[in-house]
Amino acid sequence: MVAGALSSPYGAFCESPDPYAAARQRMVLHQLNARDIKDTKVLRVMGKVKRHLFVSPSLASQAYSDHPLPIGEGQTISQPYIVALMTQVLDIKPEEKVLEIGTGSGYQAAVLSHFTDQVWSIEIRKELAQNASRRLKAFGYEKIRVKHGDGYFGWPEYAPFDAIMVTAAANHVSPLLLGQLKMGGRLLIPLGSTTYYQTLTKITKTPKGNEVEHLLGVVFVPMVGEILDE
Ligand code: SAH
Repeated sequence: MVAGALSSPYGAFCESPDPYAAARQRMVLHQLNARDIKDTKVLRVMGKVKRHLFVSPSLASQAYSDHPLPIGEGQTISQPYIVALMTQVLDIKPEEKVLEIGTGSGYQAAVLSHFTDQVWSIEIRKELAQNASRRLKAFGYEKIRVKHGDGYFGWPEYAPFDAIMVTAAANHVSPLLLGQLKMGGRLLIPLGSTTYYQTLTKITKTPKGNEVEHLLGVVFVPMVGEILDE
């Protein structure tokens, strides 16, 4: 019964054969669990979300490989390990509100939506935003709200957020995003040179100020926009 199956991300496409089910399980085992992804819910969700549906059909056979993939307009969907790690680090609880900057394919937003119903995501490239929005709806992820805009400014109408995940590299943290974070909230961002590499950085807002943790070296496509391009 296809209509019913499509209405939920958990049931999406469950009736059609999944040619990549085994590849996805191998990814979970060898790329995630074998490294430092130990959160069982993160492992379960990464084993469930069909990453091959978020890339062009010509790249579907590479969707579970240990590297990023092009998604058009010079942008990339992150390596599965990085998606899992960022999700694990943010440690989203069911009642929490999450904002993602850089919707891209919509894959990371789909992963986040298995942790909470309250996911917002902003994409600066119009076509990517439209495609991601359409794709997410088609796969049953109707609750994720995607907007075309500059994520540097956040999404004030729905702030404050418990967690903000920036999936594009920036040389500084937008003060506007920090302002839209709840007390105790976490912001994760690849911070550093946007032409070379960055440090995945976690900032926690506390009454005593921002706590900063440097996690690991990463390479992301640059965050662009009105402020960052100047
Ligand atoms: N999270 C995505 C991959 C992100 S790639 C996924 O799961 O597929 C980084 C994305 O950030 C690109 O799509 C790029 O267009 C977008 N981006 C860059 N600068 C931005 C900005 N200022 N606001 C919103 N999105 C931005």
